Amino acid sequence: MRVTDLTIASHVGIPGNEKADQHAKLAHALPPNTMEIKQCTNKLAYDKAHEWLISAWQKYYDGKQYAKHYKQIVPKVDTNIKGTAKHRQTEVYISRLRSGHCLTNKTLFTYKRATSENCKHCNVLEDVQHLLTCPFSNFLQGCLPLNLWDSIRNPTEIEKIVKNIIASKRRI
Ligand SMILES: [Zn+2]
Repeated sequence: MRVTDLTIASHVGIPGNEKADQHAKLAHALPPNTMEIKQCTNKLAYDKAHEWLISAWQKYYDGKQYAKHYKQIVPKVDTNIKGTAKHRQTEVYISRLRSGHCLTNKTLFTYKRATSENCKHCNVLEDVQHLLTCPFSNFLQGCLPLNLWDSIRNPTEIEKIVKNIIASKRRI
């Protein structure tokens, strides 16, 4: 099949365009989800659509300047569920560490809730990376000696980190 993209005048009686208008109106009148791709019975078509969607999503994700912290942890998009923690607080803290939206001095200073964005012990910027590696925190105690981003990405290691944070009573 050959597809050609061209611009034509609308609503002037061109048969193909009138037919497309009719179908668009019919589709618009359908209830939501009627055309959900999951209902497709052709597995190959579903897989192709899924592959295309992931590829388009990845291109969009890579092209955006935001989420730099999260991209260090999750460089590739996928539809898998990321969180599996059993306790709500653990789940919340894992999400905060992964998104970078923690109650670090860097964040608190932005909202005028801290007098400095630095660590009170080391006097360097207290972001998530420093929070976890600060020599005064011990939040990586008992963890495998991995790269910090690998530790945050790893479900077992991140739970150990969160357990240490909760035990220290530091709110993040
Ligand atoms: Zn420090």
